[in-house]
Amino acid sequence: MSSNAKKSLSFNQSVERMVDRALAHLDLPPGLSDQIKVCNEVFQVQFPVKLNDGKVHVFKGWRAVHSGHRLPVKGGIRYAPHVNQDEVEALAALMTYKCAIVDVPFGGSKGGLIINPRDYTTDEIERITRRFANELIDGGYISPSGNVPAPDMGTGESEMAWIADTYRALHPDDINHLGCVTGKPVAAGGIRGRTEATGRGVQYAIREFFRHPEDMKLANLEGSLEDKTSVVQGLGNVGYHAAKFLVEEDGVKIIGIIEWDGALIDEDGLNVQKVRDYIDEHGGVKGYPDAKYVEDGRSCLEMECDILIPAALESQIASDNVDRIKAPLIVEAANGPITYEADQALRQRGVVVLPDAYANAGGVTVSYFEWIKNLSHIRFGRMGRRVDEWRGKLIVQALEELTGKSVSAQLRTEIQSGADELALVRSGLDDTMRQAYQEISEVYHSNDSIQNFRTAAMVVALKKIATTYIEFGIWP
Ligand code: NAD
Repeated sequence: MSSNAKKSLSFNQSVERMVDRALAHLDLPPGLSDQIKVCNEVFQVQFPVKLNDGKVHVFKGWRAVHSGHRLPVKGGIRYAPHVNQDEVEALAALMTYKCAIVDVPFGGSKGGLIINPRDYTTDEIERITRRFANELIDGGYISPSGNVPAPDMGTGESEMAWIADTYRALHPDDINHLGCVTGKPVAAGGIRGRTEATGRGVQYAIREFFRHPEDMKLANLEGSLEDKTSVVQGLGNVGYHAAKFLVEEDGVKIIGIIEWDGALIDEDGLNVQKVRDYIDEHGGVKGYPDAKYVEDGRSCLEMECDILIPAALESQIASDNVDRIKAPLIVEAANGPITYEADQALRQRGVVVLPDAYANAGGVTVSYFEWIKNLSHIRFGRMGRRVDEWRGKLIVQALEELTGKSVSAQLRTEIQSGADELALVRSGLDDTMRQAYQEISEVYHSNDSIQNFRTAAMVVALKKIATTYIEFGIWP
């Protein structure tokens, strides 16, 4: 469906224009802005794999390193039929800015492999992934200290486990081998809360927006999240988790779900879990019994709703449909879902956009926590949890002794519980998303000529990256 969208600028050019818009508000030393913007390296591989049909198939992929001003560089690996070098470079650049916005001390990278995962069996995907990983490791594009991939579209924890295992086989003496990739299953060195992290981060970003009445006013929104309506495009890892949490924990109504084969609509709110289960079983949304089906899914981006959440592909809101977009708030759960031209048009119309480099940064934030866990070889919470519990017990005891009354069972449990890994991950993610939002909002409100959150977010990122270049002595 992305082919429906008219693209006058490539994805990479679109990202560059957005960066240029922010650079106009900064006074960086000559040449530094060019150095920050340019993609440092791109590694291209083509490799053969014998598949179940008995034939050898050749696959093509890339790993781009946008900026190594901080190491390791970080970014997902995408499996998609239309992925290309321009897209991988654009996504790598977004990673650089994203890491800076959420204070994750990594540079930006991204990988892509031309493949439609739906066309292959699991064991074929495993063989292809292991061979791709082998090529990237051989080329120096995967290691705990240099370049750490993660899941992206079309990949998940299984692919990450196979990559980690391939790296370990090639580097058995590297004690930090588990840190060569994030988004692994917990049993294979992953961290609790990583799978849901990007969607959870989208939820935390939206919650933080709703804690800022002055920002809500920009979108003509008021009140709480309860009963706000939302349309979500892409019910994969990011879209599913964001939608699920917004419904279950914040009372948002998901009135539209757009997938690759069409869209489902229900003004009373869709059952996200049932739709997801249906997709898992049937491969798409077509035929789902409990909602209205629309064949031209992309047209449903134009539905009336409070919050539009594109969580699938890039360039979905473009010159050909931007004038018909009605949502006052768009939260970019996907990378690059709005083209540069459409972004300009939305800004002029006063539509508020929470940009990708901020809104979907939950994934890389929790990946950072996973990498720290792998390098420290210990689960978060293992040392302190029981001490917290013991201290909680003393507090309850002291309260009861001082007041002569007993604390309710629920309060007792809450005071006495020590934080486990999942609670710590959620706390760290929530703090990160709030902190970053506040920095962006502050920049936005402190300068009248910065006209949207995307430019403000880029200004935040560029300032931090420039400081690193200058203070580390990388820039003379
Ligand atoms: P995913 O593969 O799990 O899900 C993508 C979903 O989009 C699938 O359900 C797919 O069927 C659907 N889809 C594909 N083509 C579509 C179309 N034309 N219209 C509507 N839906 C379509 O991928 P994901 O990991 O959820 O990634 C989605 C987006 O979020 C991507 O832009 C990715 O770069 C971005 N992102 C992902 C992560 C992460 O941690 N996975 C982190 C940051 C950003």
